Order: sequence, then C-alpha cells, then structure tokens
Amino acid sequence: HTFLLGKKQNETALTVLKNISFSVDKGDILAITGKSGSGKSTLLNIIGGFMKPTSGSVFIKERNVTNLNEGEYADFRLDNIGFIFQNFQLIPSMTAYENVELPLVLKGLSEKERVELTEQTLEKVGLSNYHHHYPSELSGGQQQRVSIARTLVIEPPIILADEPTGSLDSETEQEILDLITGLNQDLGITFLMITHDEEVARIASKQIHIHDGEIVKEEVSA
Ligand code: ATP
Ligand code: MG
Repeated sequence: HTFLLGKKQNETALTVLKNISFSVDKGDILAITGKSGSGKSTLLNIIGGFMKPTSGSVFIKERNVTNLNEGEYADFRLDNIGFIFQNFQLIPSMTAYENVELPLVLKGLSEKERVELTEQTLEKVGLSNYHHHYPSELSGGQQQRVSIARTLVIEPPIILADEPTGSLDSETEQEILDLITGLNQDLGITFLMITHDEEVARIASKQIHIHDGEIVKEEVSA
C-alpha cells in the first residue's frame, strides 16, 4: 500500500508511506518505532481516520474503514478507537471530571449513565480524588491519566497512542506503562503505540520499525 500526502511547497506529491502492510491481533500491544519524520504519526492518523491514504486499505475489526466519510468515521471512532497523545490534549477550561465525561456527552448518554461511567473510569486510573482539578493543577503523569480515562470511558477495543510517555520523567513513564499494560491485560484493549524509547517498546508484544515510510523490521516478542 502506498500512502501519498500532497506537498504544497512545490506541488509535487511526497510519498510518506509505502509498502506498509501489517496486522495487529486483538489484545496485542504493537510498538511503532522509527526516526523523526519516518511516518509514524502519519500511519496512526490514517488508521484513526484523520487522513485518507491515496491507495491501500485499513481494516479494523474486519471492517474496511477506508471508505467511511468523515461523519461515519467520527461515529466509528466513538465506538471503537481511543487516542492518547504526548501532550495529553486535555481541555484546559474543563476539570478532570468534565474532560472524562465529554465523550459520553458526545455519545448522548444520560446524566445518570455519565456520572456512573465517569466516576468508575477516574477510579480505574487512580484519580478518584481529583475530579475537580483543572489540567493546570495536575502533574504530567496525572494529566496523562485523565487523558487515558477520557479515552477509556467509551470502552474502546483499540487505543492509538502517539508517544504517550514522551513528556514524562522516567518514574512517571513507568507508572503510565504499568497502567497501559494493566488495561491490556485486564480489559483486553489492543494498543498501537508510537515510541522513540526502547524501554517503552519493551512492553509490546509486537514491534514494527519504520524507516523512510517503509517497514524495515517486524518483530514478535517472545
Ligand atoms: P516524529 O517522530 O518527529 O513525530 P513521525 O515519524 O511521526 O515523526 P510524520 O509526522 O508521520 O513523522 O511525518 C512523516 C513525513 O510526512 C515527514 O516528511 C513530514 O514532513 C511529512 N508530513 C507529515 N504531515 C504532513 C502533511 N500534513 N502534509 C505534508 N507532509 C506531511
Ligand atoms: Mg510523530
């Protein structure tokens, strides 16, 4: 599969990803590694439906999602795909509770259902005592927990993570990795996780290494 992205400067197409073909099994933790600019985020954006490949297809849960339009993909995401980012992407004007509740508001759940799920999920990530804190009042690790809770609250079978520990110190990184591993083991959530860090890649059951837009190495952990 060749994924092309338009390049505005000289109006010729830049091939960002090519010959990308891989599969991830339910319950896997896939680590995606590779140098800066190799195409890792582009790959995750294509899988998450934020970019369309010029050719090739993405199948999620045996469904070809490549031809979904924006609205259909948004609905599909709300049921199936969670996201975590290096910079957390929390809404600064909302408390931890409100950030986590937001996807449930988008899904149209009742107040009663929202309260129950939001409280449960904040407890799962160890933030029961932080409902009323704003992101600016939380540490990086706590903010990442809020962001994990916000994605977890919709109970997604798959979570896409772009450098989830990239802005954390090593101790906090380990706590977040333990949380991810726990969610994988206890809830069977499949993770596709970009990382620069060998320590992080170590929790993966499978690893693909991308160089200049191509998979140059694929490893399954023992
Ligand atoms: P990093 O580790 O720095 O985050 P990455 O592996 O995630 O890098 P990408 O962001 O996927 O790399 O970028 C891959 C290539 O695609 C780079 O050459 C980049 O300049 C280019 N690129 C990314 N997004 C676009 C875009 N929207 N339009 C044109 N080119 C883009
Ligand atoms: Mg990137």
